[in-house]
Amino acid sequence: MNSHKEAFKALPSVDKALKSQYLKSLVKDYGHEAVKQVVRARLELARTSIAEGDKGISQSISRGDFFVDFCNETALAVLASFSGTLVPVINLTGTVVHTNLGRARLPMESVAAIRKVATQTTNLEFDLATGKRGDRDSHIEKSVCEITGAEAATIVNNNAAAVLLVLNTLALNKEVVISRGELVEIGGAFRIPDVMASANCKLKEVGTTNRTHLRDYQAAIGSDTAILMKVHTSNYEIRGFTNSVSEESLSQLSKEKELCFVSDLGSGTLVDLSQFGLPHEPTVTETLDFGADVVTFSGDKLLGGPQAGIIVGKKELIQKIKSNPLKRALRVDKITLAALAEVINLYRDPHRLTKRIPLLADLARPVSEINLLAERVLPTFQDKLSARVAVTIEDCKSQIGSGALPLDLLASKALVLKPLAEKGKSDAALQKLARDFRRLPIPVLGRINDGRLVFDLRCLEDESQFLSQLSDLP
Ligand SMILES: *Cc1c(COP(=O)(O)O)cnc(C)c1O
Repeated sequence: MNSHKEAFKALPSVDKALKSQYLKSLVKDYGHEAVKQVVRARLELARTSIAEGDKGISQSISRGDFFVDFCNETALAVLASFSGTLVPVINLTGTVVHTNLGRARLPMESVAAIRKVATQTTNLEFDLATGKRGDRDSHIEKSVCEITGAEAATIVNNNAAAVLLVLNTLALNKEVVISRGELVEIGGAFRIPDVMASANCKLKEVGTTNRTHLRDYQAAIGSDTAILMKVHTSNYEIRGFTNSVSEESLSQLSKEKELCFVSDLGSGTLVDLSQFGLPHEPTVTETLDFGADVVTFSGDKLLGGPQAGIIVGKKELIQKIKSNPLKRALRVDKITLAALAEVINLYRDPHRLTKRIPLLADLARPVSEINLLAERVLPTFQDKLSARVAVTIEDCKSQIGSGALPLDLLASKALVLKPLAEKGKSDAALQKLARDFRRLPIPVLGRINDGRLVFDLRCLEDESQFLSQLSDLP
């Protein structure tokens, strides 16, 4: 076959492809229209290739394999077009709460609750006792208050939304006094100064990057001041010659001046993490006890729940926050509420937290257990990869992530893969190795460090699934 014309003529009709044994069942599963679109697009592609002189196609047409190949490739394209791009991955990066990897895995209790409310109508905003309109926060407010000691609570989409809503409600067109050392950027464009601007508040920075004193706050307070704010410096730590003002002092000052004291905790934990061998992080209850009027924190950082922002504090302030029209735009849906309610319930049984909340299980996982896991998976790795890489077990440090305790690293164990490439080619070999792991059916993500691919095993859940995939590596 040497002319384009003949190749064009040999292309199948859309109808013939759709009726073929290769695509018939896909038409049944995904619908005639959807498969037809893909067949059309692929025929168009074939025409372009032929016009551009692609010999491969012409040859396969003259050999007579074109039709089968075409249908099989089209079938794969149909399947690919229906498989979502949001997929599970195995997080061996060493960062436990990884924002780009979706943060916390939910406990089974939350998953069951999600299923229940997702598939049925619910009394989300309907009071079954009175038969009147209800409040969606009512399904969770009581237990949040019980567990934190707060007077009232409300839930929004994430902590960024919580901060925005609190500032917009309590300091609209007014000043918010905050230390220069706390003007944080959390990442993904959440910067405290920008949030202030979006909330229509005036930012009044006090002190210096490393040192802020109570007198700085005192001097900054004027007739326009509405809030004294403290932001947890989640993802960095200022060390050396430093001073910051305690929550107690700020609370006292705000009372004297009749202002609100707002604390953005960021991660916000409900329990003392030191019981799991982790460094202490200020809890929500402690912050309220120190005199904060309003505290905001995330649902999916150290709490281990779904993405949400939780606002707790004084009843009258929370009431004001709830009546802000912005709340309507930032409120959570029934699925988030159901999942979060289950997580909060689990906190009522503090002794089983590390068994039932996957995030806390990961954080509290003893290094001895991770080491045993490393020793179990090592032989399979060496077996499968010995031609390409040297595999060893090494000590490493996991990070909590998402801003929590930035400098406190948890002792862990890693599988370390070093490519056996000749000099000058090792970087390319390393990049290819990382890519090969990312292309597995369940992508495996590690971190590249010092010419090696490091898999911190702290968050490895399903060992056999992890190992069985290795045979898919090229
Ligand atoms: C993470 C964080 C936020 C943002 O919380 P999201 O839940 O990601 O919206 C705000 N403030 C601080 C201090 C944080 O650490």
